Amino acid sequence: MSSPIEINERQYPGIPSSTAIVICLDGSQKEYFEEASKLNLTPNIDSFKKNGEDLLVNSAIPSFTNPNNISIVTGRPSSVHGICGNFFYTPSTGEEVMMNDPQFLRAPTIFQKYYEQGAKIAIVTAKDKLRKLLSHGLKFNESRAICFSSEKSDQANLSENGIEDVNKWLGMEVPNVYSQGLSEFVMAAGVKILNEFNPDIMYLSTTDFIQHKYAPGDEVANTFYAMFDRYIGQLNVNNNSIIVTADHGMQPKSRSDGSPNAIFLQDILDETLGKNISKVILPITDPYVVHHGALGSFATVYLSDKSKINDAIEEINKIEDIEVVLTNKEGCAQYDLPTDRMGDIICMSSQNSTIGSAEKAHDLSKLKEPLRSHGGLHEREVPFISNKKINLNDANIKLNNYDAFYHAISGAM
Ligand SMILES: [Zn+2]
Repeated sequence: MSSPIEINERQYPGIPSSTAIVICLDGSQKEYFEEASKLNLTPNIDSFKKNGEDLLVNSAIPSFTNPNNISIVTGRPSSVHGICGNFFYTPSTGEEVMMNDPQFLRAPTIFQKYYEQGAKIAIVTAKDKLRKLLSHGLKFNESRAICFSSEKSDQANLSENGIEDVNKWLGMEVPNVYSQGLSEFVMAAGVKILNEFNPDIMYLSTTDFIQHKYAPGDEVANTFYAMFDRYIGQLNVNNNSIIVTADHGMQPKSRSDGSPNAIFLQDILDETLGKNISKVILPITDPYVVHHGALGSFATVYLSDKSKINDAIEEINKIEDIEVVLTNKEGCAQYDLPTDRMGDIICMSSQNSTIGSAEKAHDLSKLKEPLRSHGGLHEREVPFISNKKINLNDANIKLNNYDAFYHAISGAM
């Protein structure tokens, strides 16, 4: 056993003797597991819950994919690592900057720190947008690291990913980016990597395509969780420690007629404060908007005239279905956000509503099913399921999903 490793002000155990596995099952509101379990579709997860741990923990706010994946792999919230959405806005230039590049990362990952101590690391992610952030600090020329995405598995090569000919090796073609196959690919690759590469630490991160489209208990959702459970059985070997958690939950966000339940905040602020005073930023926006139309439950607002902040807060407070309205300072303190990458106002909507910018800015034509989305407080609580008992020193402290690696590694010592 190597000596303890300090990462982002937390003391982690040394390199584990078996494999520490964390799985971020994107968009897994706890009811997905509960419904699949009722039909006995998830025997492996059920046995983890019975013999290990079955906890509910907080994800980082905003309850979006990138901030939470990066929280999980750094062990800290966005205020420390800086990734608080898919992009941030620069008021001085009017530029919207994508945050999928490592230059925006303000903290080292757990992978980097373990790698520097000689550990073997394996990472598979569904969408390629996360790959560069997750693999930052790893070297791929020493045969100790693998990191690739199912989306671009055909482009994986030894110098950038530590693996090549992935599709032939796995016997699976590149899945469609909007399919459950993208996540199944991650799980199948995880099992094969475990058997052939035997990593010390492994991270598998899926995509929430299924969860955006289908409610818990839907046949398609149940089939997805049954598939997931079969792979879990194959990972649960030797003395491996496995923690299954999620980046965020998922709630229905449509009206009774099936249309998306959205508050078009930019339109409201343009009308009440005047045009060109405010800029509504939705950090959920990314190139893959088909399944949510860029509608989530979190928004931040920049004001060109700072003397209007209180007026804007007053107007937003009048909107039914917006539950949280805070200044930058209050919101960043309360939800561990980086002040310089958030606007003057931070707001979140209710369980069944979303916040949009201007109505005309959203292309909702590709939304086929009633909207399901995330981003706010109602999608914050996520499952945290472990195949081992966790030593919870202080039972009064609610864990975060970003405590996953600490406990997974501790369980694999
Ligand atoms: Zn997600």
